[in-house]
Parts: sequence; C-alpha cells; structure tokens
Amino acid sequence: MHPIIQRNVGWIEVICGCMFSGKTEELIRRLRRAVIARQKVEIFKPKVDNRYGEDHIVSHSEAKIHSLMVEDPREILEHSLESQVVGIDEAQFFKENIVEICNKLANMGKRVIVAGLDMDYRGKPFEPIPQLLAIAEYITKSHAVCVRCGNPATFTQRTSKDSARVVVGAHDIYEARCRHCFEPPPEDTKRTNSHPDKNKQEVNAHPKTDS
Ligand SMILES: [Zn+2]
Repeated sequence: MHPIIQRNVGWIEVICGCMFSGKTEELIRRLRRAVIARQKVEIFKPKVDNRYGEDHIVSHSEAKIHSLMVEDPREILEHSLESQVVGIDEAQFFKENIVEICNKLANMGKRVIVAGLDMDYRGKPFEPIPQLLAIAEYITKSHAVCVRCGNPATFTQRTSKDSARVVVGAHDIYEARCRHCFEPPPEDTKRTNSHPDKNKQEVNAHPKTDS
C-alpha cells in the first residue's frame, strides 16, 4: 500500500482478521516504519486487554511497542493532538464511539491505523470493526493457519465452554480455524440443527445468503 500522500490529508487503515493472524505484528511493523520516518506516533489499546505488559502492545510472537492504555476512545483524541500517526490495537474492545473518533482523527489530517478482530468466537461480525471497515480507506485482512488442516484460517475457535463474548486468552482457549474446520458454539448449532452432523451444522450456521 503506497498512497500518494498530500499534506494534511489523513486516512484510516484497518488491519482485521482472526486471532493468531498477525494483526498486531503488522500494526507494529507499520508504526515502526513511521517512527523511522521521524513521524510523531501515538499508540493506544483498550483497558480490557491486559494480557501482556501494561504500557506496551505485544504480538503473539513477542514484538512489542510502547502504548497507552485507555478506557474511552475520547481519551485517544486528547492524547494524539500532536501526533501524525495514531495506532490502535484490539479495537473490537472499544465502544462504538471509536468509529467517530477515528473519523475525527483522519479529518484532522492524521494517519490512523486500527487493528482488531473482525469476527467473534461465534463467527459473527464483531462491532465496531465492521463499521470501521466501512469508513476506512485501506483494508488488510490477515489470515492465520488452520490448526486442523493447514488452510488459511479466518475464524477464531474458542476451545473453552465460556459463552461471554469477551473472554481474554490466547493459545489456552483459542485456535485459528478455516471455514471448514470451524465449529460454531453449541448454543448456535442447537438453534439451527438438532442432529449432531457437523457438516450440516456448519452449512446451517453460516448460510451463504448474504446480499
Ligand atoms: Zn481447516
């Protein structure tokens, strides 16, 4: 991606995908390049995510970069008035107003780079990422590798029985799976199919009738 850059024109980039797809890695890579280019960079992550260091964003492969933990997206605006590049990790954990804040930042002439999960563990769009994708100038969907069959993976399989939408964890309770190997949680499959036939469940849980 090499947009023709004009002065004072901002934009939004979204890096989305399932867990273990390298979203944070890619975010860190882009932000590091901005630092090398001597741009003023500010990086944020939501308070819910304290899996690793409190003042860093860290990818699963241990790449890390200094970041600020915030609860409300409005704090991002307050802390990035001086910056040219704004990075936001784990954006799915922010409230809906993250969309408006990203728009404001881009309208102020900043480059906004947002990374986040595009689907939850049920395989359903994870707000506010779909809304961010709609307003972004540039979109990257990263793929993981399916742990079952080795195909490109876009789904996050939860291997524990928790049914809350947000359960923070890594390899202990999540796996990357492809469309074929992804098994929607039982509460979804029960509604759509009473037979324990896995292939039928998948077809019913993911009807290809999007229009
Ligand atoms: Zn697979």
